Amino acid sequence: MTVLARGSRGARSEDVRRGNLSTLLRYVHVHGPTARSRLTAVLGLNRSTIGDLTSELVAAGLLREEPGRPDRVGGEAAGGGRPSYVVAPQSERVQVLAVDVGVTHLSVARVGLGGAILSRRDRSYRRGTRRHTTVTAAITKISAELLAEVDGAVVVAGMGVAVPGMVRRHDGQVRQAPNLGWRDVPLGAALADALGLPVSVGNDADLGILAEQVRGAAVGVDDAVYLTGRSGLGAGIIAGGRPLGGRTGYAGEVGHLVVDPAGLPCHCGSRGCWETQCGEERLFELAARPAGGGLAGVREVVAAAAAGDAVAAAALEDVAGWLGRGTANVVHVLNPEMVILGGALEEVLRALGGTVRSAFDSTALAAPGEQVRIVAPHLGSDSTLVGSAELAFDPLLSDPLLTLSRRHAS
Ligand SMILES: [Zn+2]
Repeated sequence: MTVLARGSRGARSEDVRRGNLSTLLRYVHVHGPTARSRLTAVLGLNRSTIGDLTSELVAAGLLREEPGRPDRVGGEAAGGGRPSYVVAPQSERVQVLAVDVGVTHLSVARVGLGGAILSRRDRSYRRGTRRHTTVTAAITKISAELLAEVDGAVVVAGMGVAVPGMVRRHDGQVRQAPNLGWRDVPLGAALADALGLPVSVGNDADLGILAEQVRGAAVGVDDAVYLTGRSGLGAGIIAGGRPLGGRTGYAGEVGHLVVDPAGLPCHCGSRGCWETQCGEERLFELAARPAGGGLAGVREVVAAAAAGDAVAAAALEDVAGWLGRGTANVVHVLNPEMVILGGALEEVLRALGGTVRSAFDSTALAAPGEQVRIVAPHLGSDSTLVGSAELAFDPLLSDPLLTLSRRHAS
C-alpha cells in the first residue's frame, strides 16, 4: 500500500510538472517574449519553480533566456536593478509547416514557435475540380523548398493543413469537400507518408476560429463564430470557450442550410443552400463576371462597385443582404457574442457593412441579436493558415518533452 501510495504521488507530481511545462510553453508561444517575473505572476507558480521549468525548456531547445530590463516593483527598480530574465520562443529552431488548401489558392508556410510566419509560398488556381494527388504533390514540392531554407538543427514538429471540407480528425481523412470535388481523400496519410512528418488536417473554418481565438479578434471571447466564405461557406464555432465540433467533428456546415428550396443547385447535391446565395460564385454570377475569381475576383467586384459600376454594386448589395439574414440564423442557433466574417465575406463586410448589419437586425431575434458584434478577422485572409500552424504546434505545446523526444527519435 505504502509503495503504491508513494508511486501514485510520484506519478502525480510528474503529471503536474508536465502540465506546468505545457502551460509555460503555451503562454510564451502565444504572448511572445515574457519576463520571468511576469510568468511567476500569470502562472501562479513561485520563482524557483518557474526557474526550473524554464531551464528545462531552454535545455530542450524550445525557449531561450536573455537578460531583460531591471525588475521593477511599483515603478522602482527592485534590489538595485536586478535583471529579470526574459523568456522567448526559439522561433528559428522549432518550426512547423502550415498549409491552407483553397478552391482557388494554395498557401504553404514555415512558421516558427511563437507564431511568426518565417517563409511562405502562395499559388493561385482557377476554380474547378482538382485531383487530390495533384494537390498532395504540390504541397510536398513546396514543403521541400521551404525546408531546404533551414539547416539540420531546426526541429520541424509537424504539419497542419486546412481544407474546405469535412475532415475526420484522427487520421486526416477528408470525408467530403464539395467545392474541390473530393470524397474520402486520405490527405493526412498521403502527406505524412510523403514528408515523414506528423500531419494534422482540419476544416478551414474550425482553424479560422482557432487562430482568431488565440491571436485575433476573439481573444478572451468564449462564444464566437468564424464564418469563412471561400467558394463555399462554413462556420468554426467556439461555445463556452471550447471548440464545438459535434459528435464526429462535422458541425458548422452552415453553408448548406437550405434558405430557398426552389433556389439554385448546390455542389452538395441539394438546392437553395445559403452558400448558393452569398458565396463568391453567386457574387460573380450577379456581377456578370467569370466564375472562379477567388478573393482577387471579389476585390475586383468591390472596387468596380466603388467606382460606380451599377451591376457590381447591385450584386454586392444582394449578397450582403443574404449574408446578414443568414448570419441571423446562425446567431439564433448559437447565441454567440461575436461573428467574424472571413475570406470573401470580409470584403463584403468592409464594402457594405451597413447592409449586412441592417439585414441581420431585420431578421434576428432581439435578445440574441442585439449584443452580437459582427467583425472582420484580425488576421485577415491568413486566419486559416495561422490556424493550421496552431494545429501543428498543439501536440508539442500539450506535452513538450514527449513530443520533442518522438521527433528526435523519428
Ligand atoms: Zn449545399
